[in-house]
Amino acid sequence: MRDDLRKDKIRTYYRALYQAWGPQNWWPARSQFEVVIGAYLTQNTAWTNVEKALANLRAAGLLSVKGIRDMRLAELERLIRPSGYFRQKAARLKTFVGFLDRHYRGSLKRLFASPTAELRKELLALNGVGPETADSILLYAGNHPVFVVDAYTRRIIARHAILPAEADYEDVRALFERALSPLPHSVAEMTESSIQHLAPGLPGAPHPPSLMSAAKRTALTQVYNEMHGLIVGVGKHYCKKSQPVCDGCPLQRFLPGAK
Ligand code: SF4
Repeated sequence: MRDDLRKDKIRTYYRALYQAWGPQNWWPARSQFEVVIGAYLTQNTAWTNVEKALANLRAAGLLSVKGIRDMRLAELERLIRPSGYFRQKAARLKTFVGFLDRHYRGSLKRLFASPTAELRKELLALNGVGPETADSILLYAGNHPVFVVDAYTRRIIARHAILPAEADYEDVRALFERALSPLPHSVAEMTESSIQHLAPGLPGAPHPPSLMSAAKRTALTQVYNEMHGLIVGVGKHYCKKSQPVCDGCPLQRFLPGAK
């Protein structure tokens, strides 16, 4: 498929999903640091388990840079145990805070003031930070214009013959960024009345707004934010791993061969 067709498809999917489901209110967190912790804890586990670990940290009054820094490793392991791989994740969170202290005097504000490409490289050099974690931190905690590619993204574009499932992470990310970067202008054209607002509990209904979902960001960052949230909705409710449930999926009419 030609690159311009791929980009057109992705833009069309964005519009279709946004009109069907409206803003998704990502990421469900109260602070930048909570996004960082969530991005680590969500590796290889369901978000419901992450919520339990975050609730433990919050209840202990330790959901902060200082909290993670001062806490004994064994205590951190105990609190985040519900998220699975808790020993590995606790060590990685300590590594992140150590990095923040050494390079940015413990300040997330200083960290996120770095240029995007430079900061991405630094995050990727940390133990336990792959591209999806780094990009989640950059986009959802730092409001940097980086698109997050996850397993749902790959599954959807493979099933729609846009890119193969084994495509390189960076190729998928670059494609989405090229496709979505002109969108902030046309999104403004989507009038409020053309966007559906779903009742809680329905597939595609948004998270309740959070302090981080309502944070100030550029129009481009907002488009990346929404597209990832919309894709998660498709993956969670329709584009399941073993078998897609295409009936009712807002992308059904774009399937290859669809009339
Ligand atoms: S569920 Fe079906 S229509 Fe929806 S994204 Fe997956 S393959 Fe496409």
